[in-house]
Amino acid sequence: FEEANLIRKALRIKVTGTDVPPPLKSFAELVTRYKVSRRLMAALRPAGFSSPTPIQRQAIPALMAGRELLAVAPTGSGKTLAFLIPLLAGLLALRARGDWPEGVKALVVSPTHELAAQQARVIKLLLPGTGLRACLLSKATATGSDFTKVDLLLANPLRLVNLVEEGKVALGQCRYVVLDEADKLFELGFVEQVDALLAVAQHHEVVRALFSATLPERVEDLARSVLQQPLRITVGMRNA
Ligand code: ADP
Ligand code: MG
Repeated sequence: FEEANLIRKALRIKVTGTDVPPPLKSFAELVTRYKVSRRLMAALRPAGFSSPTPIQRQAIPALMAGRELLAVAPTGSGKTLAFLIPLLAGLLALRARGDWPEGVKALVVSPTHELAAQQARVIKLLLPGTGLRACLLSKATATGSDFTKVDLLLANPLRLVNLVEEGKVALGQCRYVVLDEADKLFELGFVEQVDALLAVAQHHEVVRALFSATLPERVEDLARSVLQQPLRITVGMRNA
């Protein structure tokens, strides 16, 4: 416990909530301690990711433990891998225990298509050899895809809500829902769409997380109202 607190203090990681998992010491610890597949982690170093950033150190073990969270860290601090690694590892763990229904089992909602496309580029580094299927929602994939064959979906809210309403995407088996750039989702006025998506993604084991660069009241309100016993992780913020 002492060591965990020293790491947090040195890296200015602040966490509130109960039963906070210790921060990661290295990516290698994901393999040795958290039993993440070596193959998934092997892609990190050649891609230039040699050690986890502060938000990654605390958010990854939290999501791996199935904790819902509000994670706030500045732009450029590595939030993408902070949720993609635990989502992919979590999907592999589900499949390993035979809990593998058809359809979307992890969802990342971003305010714009461009942000979702950036995440798709990061996912491409990690997917080879996993057998997991990821889809970036776009005009083309919205019409041409069989979403029962998609494990992880990257989407912007408007297009996704339409597909859900048309019955083309089901979210009832979704085990992870990440709202990325939650502050921007609100700024851009996607409150209704976010509510609609959370209302259908109600699997009893769903783990939800909000990632944000800033912490406006509306983001904190959403975290308080929808997340179960959330951890609130902040890195490098004033007044946090
Ligand atoms: P954010 O979502 O917080 O704005 P990103 O996830 O887009 O940040 O990451 C910002 C940059 O940092 C990207 O270029 C990414 O490749 C790089 N990056 C992320 N994690 C690491 C890491 N552990 N080590 C080195 N670079 C990293
Ligand atoms: Mg980001």
